[in-house]
Amino acid sequence: MEMPRLSQLMDLGGKVAIVTGAAMGIGQGIAMRLAEAGASVLITDIDIKAARQTVDQITKAGGKAEAIQADAASVSDAERVAQTAVTTFGRLDILVNNAGIYPPSALMQISEAMWDKVLDINLKGLFFYAQAAARKMIEAGRGGKIVNIASAGAIIPTGNLAHYEASKGGVVAVTRALAKELGPHQILVNSIAPGGVPTPGGAAAAAMIRAELNLPEDAMPPPRSVLGHWGTPDDIAKVVCFLVSGLADYMTGSLVMVDGGFLLI
Ligand code: NAD
Repeated sequence: MEMPRLSQLMDLGGKVAIVTGAAMGIGQGIAMRLAEAGASVLITDIDIKAARQTVDQITKAGGKAEAIQADAASVSDAERVAQTAVTTFGRLDILVNNAGIYPPSALMQISEAMWDKVLDINLKGLFFYAQAAARKMIEAGRGGKIVNIASAGAIIPTGNLAHYEASKGGVVAVTRALAKELGPHQILVNSIAPGGVPTPGGAAAAAMIRAELNLPEDAMPPPRSVLGHWGTPDDIAKVVCFLVSGLADYMTGSLVMVDGGFLLI
């Protein structure tokens, strides 16, 4: 049997992907690269205006994308999004569960409401989006790929993020559970743990570090990376492309660190 070329394995032409929270930050980077690889991308976000701007950027670059307003914490939105992918683009092959929040708070100030909000978006919603996507993938019988965005914080705490770190530890565990039960359907499920990536969502955390280190307001906090610089959304996006491509057809249940050596410091 002739082996496919590497370029064929990386080609996502004809595939359909959902990326949650893809209006900005890491999710936007992921949506742009998946579209470049040939996938039709359904961008979900609570900020529909920004999501549409990302669609415009993708379309201008020659890619295919649509936006839908949906809450990553909502179980009914999970069903609606999976159905919309199939109705709009005809099938569903890839889900990237990227949406997540990380409001920094000292341990003793974390309220029940804040705990619930973080866990609902980062963990509960992620599970139900995976369940809804897997239902479509199983119905179609073509398998699929799910990538869950965890965090280096799932492995070691950075401080002031206990609720977030609990949610991301859960993401790693639920990724393995999904991989185990969905494996027989050829649905491969992996997670990525980014290190520090400056994004709109990171502004509050950056401000807290600046205050701790007595840095001026416009200063970038020093990167936690052995490479000496912060990561970018595209650093994460490229690894998502690898995981959902034909290059990673025997990987499931893995946690891939994309952290510039965050854990080595
Ligand atoms: P961001 O805040 O810059 O972007 C997140 C996007 O998600 C925004 O477009 C926002 O509108 C959307 N969003 C927020 N709540 C939502 C909800 N309930 N429903 C739908 N969309 C919602 O964040 P980011 O830094 O790009 O982070 C993306 C993911 O990467 C998160 O899961 C985060 O935990 C993870 N992560 C980020 C870093 C980092 O340093 N930036 C590090 C590790 C992990």
